[in-house]
Amino acid sequence: MLIVLDMDDTLYLEQDYVRSGFQSVDAWLVADCDTNGFFERAWHYFLSGRRNDIFNQVLRDFNLEDDKRVLKMVEVYRTHEPDIQLLPDARSFLMNHASTELAIISDGHSVSQWAKVRSLQLVERVGTIIITNDWGREYWKPHPRAFETVQQGYSPGNCVYIADNPLKDFIAPATLGWMPSVRVRRTGSLHGDIPTPESCIEVRTLDEAATLFYKGLTH
Ligand SMILES: [Mg+2]
Repeated sequence: MLIVLDMDDTLYLEQDYVRSGFQSVDAWLVADCDTNGFFERAWHYFLSGRRNDIFNQVLRDFNLEDDKRVLKMVEVYRTHEPDIQLLPDARSFLMNHASTELAIISDGHSVSQWAKVRSLQLVERVGTIIITNDWGREYWKPHPRAFETVQQGYSPGNCVYIADNPLKDFIAPATLGWMPSVRVRRTGSLHGDIPTPESCIEVRTLDEAATLFYKGLTH
């Protein structure tokens, strides 16, 4: 059986990456224009549900808005070496499976995603890691290419995907005839409010997923 995992909000909490990125941007802003307080404001906006314009908004608050500065902040955020950790259940799940029966499929900016892979020490633990963006934006999920690539040598009915985002994660594995996908619905995850599709099995942690596999995955 091949167990394929998503990374963000499946193996670690994405909000921890956001926090780590904001801290790097904060340090950069102190060095660039001697401005303190970026982190507290940015984190406040993030927790209040704001998403795509947090850098602009904080700079506006400080009367420092400038397109070039925003671009540089995005670069600092995306290229920083993140301070993130595997969730305890993810750590034990990976330890309890051979790297050869594990794969990862993850979207996102390549530099950022590979920095996460390094920080979480996943190369040592997972046989195949595909960052879809390495092929181009058009291969992000739900494009099936990554799923077709990892399933080589397995029958589709022996492959399962474990992930968190109902908007895009479970379409390709269902189309390819994989086992019912496992949706991890974690407290504190970014897509936790979206209901689990009927075709998926919902778990709260990977400990629950491991128990399912022992019992035999049925739906
Ligand atoms: Mg995810």
